[in-house]
Amino acid sequence: MSADFEGLKALVTGGASGIGRATAELLAARGARVAVLDLDPSTVDKPLLGFRADVTDDASVREAVAAAVADLGGLDVLINNAGIGAQGTVEDNADDEWHRVLDVNVVGMVRTARAALPHLRESAHAAIVNTCSIAATAGLPQRALYSATKGAVLSLTLAMAADHLREGVRVNCVNPGTADTPWVGRLLDAAADPAAERAALESRQPSGRLVSADEVAGAIVYLASPLSGATTGTALAVDGGMQGLRLRPV
Ligand code: NAD
Repeated sequence: MSADFEGLKALVTGGASGIGRATAELLAARGARVAVLDLDPSTVDKPLLGFRADVTDDASVREAVAAAVADLGGLDVLINNAGIGAQGTVEDNADDEWHRVLDVNVVGMVRTARAALPHLRESAHAAIVNTCSIAATAGLPQRALYSATKGAVLSLTLAMAADHLREGVRVNCVNPGTADTPWVGRLLDAAADPAAERAALESRQPSGRLVSADEVAGAIVYLASPLSGATTGTALAVDGGMQGLRLRPV
């Protein structure tokens, strides 16, 4: 067994940026044929195949998954990664904001899984990896809505793992800590002094640094590979020791 993806076909949602981009590139470097499904696939280069879709729109997801599977010639791996952030306490986000973020982060994963499962069942190496977050269990301040969506992703991962176990479809998730992606870059750029804000963010991490997108991609690719063939229904922390050591941002 190896982490070799020669002959395997993978679909990565939110694969045009950050963690999804790093994952799509690592899968391709390992020999997979890789399709990226994203709101904006214009920056997706060969050998990756780009497909435009909004995970909140069921018809667009079904069309993009069908087109990707046709181009790839099947599907072995789904990386459910598209997601957006939200800040604040329960008093800060109105109902429409709750519906919007839940729709992307939770129901979006359900839509892609629903479209992909008939194809994954045909594969001898079927795996789904959902991008969750330390926010699912850490009790982070000012992240009520975002944390609730990732708590749902964790529960969804376990339920899907149980439902599809005997169908040969493994389902796991990764829980990244704060990862150095364009998303975090945008938050830092909004600060008065982005460099000072970055230094402060890094110093708050128990490990003293952010997680890289490549490090999260490595964990995702492991869980998608035949190397983890007996692993399903797990959450792999990629957080510089935060969860394993019961540490919190300081
Ligand atoms: P990013 O903003 O760099 O990339 C997200 C990608 O998702 C973008 O290409 C965007 O176009 C796409 N996307 C957003 N909404 C979409 C939609 N409705 N339909 C299709 N595509 C859509 O973000 P990232 O930091 O790489 O985050 C990726 C995942 O990792 C998210 O699920 C996020 O919750 C999770 N995560 C990130 C961090 C972090 O610190 N960066 C930590 C833990 C978990």
